[in-house]
Amino acid sequence: VMRVVSDAVNAELANLCHTFRELNSGHLATYIPPLAQADPADFGLALASADGHRYQAGEADRLFTIQSVSKPFVLALALSELGAAEVFRRVGAEPSGEPFNAISLDPESGRPANPMINAGAIATTALVPAAGAERRFSRILETLGRFAGRALDVDEEVYRAEAATGDRNIALAHLMRAAGSLTGDPSDALDVYFRQCAIRVDAVDLAVMAATLANGGVNPVTGERVVPEPVTVQVLAVMATCGMYDGSGDWLLRVGLPAKSGVSGGLVAISPGRSGLGSYSPLLDAAGNPVRAVAALAALSQELGLHLMRRP
Ligand code: GLU
Repeated sequence: VMRVVSDAVNAELANLCHTFRELNSGHLATYIPPLAQADPADFGLALASADGHRYQAGEADRLFTIQSVSKPFVLALALSELGAAEVFRRVGAEPSGEPFNAISLDPESGRPANPMINAGAIATTALVPAAGAERRFSRILETLGRFAGRALDVDEEVYRAEAATGDRNIALAHLMRAAGSLTGDPSDALDVYFRQCAIRVDAVDLAVMAATLANGGVNPVTGERVVPEPVTVQVLAVMATCGMYDGSGDWLLRVGLPAKSGVSGGLVAISPGRSGLGSYSPLLDAAGNPVRAVAALAALSQELGLHLMRRP
């Protein structure tokens, strides 16, 4: 019976890959050379069920840097360590309505709008308790590995390029320190953030990471509890309103699932209690979201009735 089901899911993913691979609109990220060298033809889709089965189609084994898709998982780590009251005292939970790299700090408190934009993500990364930047990054790398169910590593070339061109992020970190919303050394916070963005994953890793959130914080492949269940609810809530840059409202309308996209073309989406989806397609729309993944997930959500606002 399992065989038949898994063949059907693989066939459906292959079908979506085939159909939406034809979408050739959008642009590659070009702010650093290694991202501009991505193959615009790539499209990988993967699904991990909340009971630990994995399915994939297209270039689902292609490695790429996680970029902003790291943000919800680092938020999950910070929430596990510090609790929601402390984290959301330091970083807001409101969609900013501004681009991801905006200087979006509350004029009174200096608090960044939410943990999915760069300012809020840098502040969240800095909250992860550890003795120094190196240990902090090790904890993040290890935690993302536990979400993925395998040890992950860093693309050193991308890390160096991020660090060398990150003027806007550097400026954000310094502004936040001046405003009192970033504690500690801004260059330490940035170094950890740039490394975090350069962690290497493929679409299957992203699907398992998403499935861990879908499964209440227990990785359904390894059986390991990565974060407490209430943390997954908090993270999914933030993803639902803030995960897809300035396309978050339109995405929630069309697809109806918490999700996060990143500038290299990665995307995770979560169907709570059911499955995690991971995708790689480097052509981005005007909001910065991967064109093929958005179209394919809209179709899949419609087909399987995954929209969360739908009557069960
Ligand atoms: N490293 C990128 C930055 O902080 C990540 C951006 C993204 O994926 O949205 O600019």
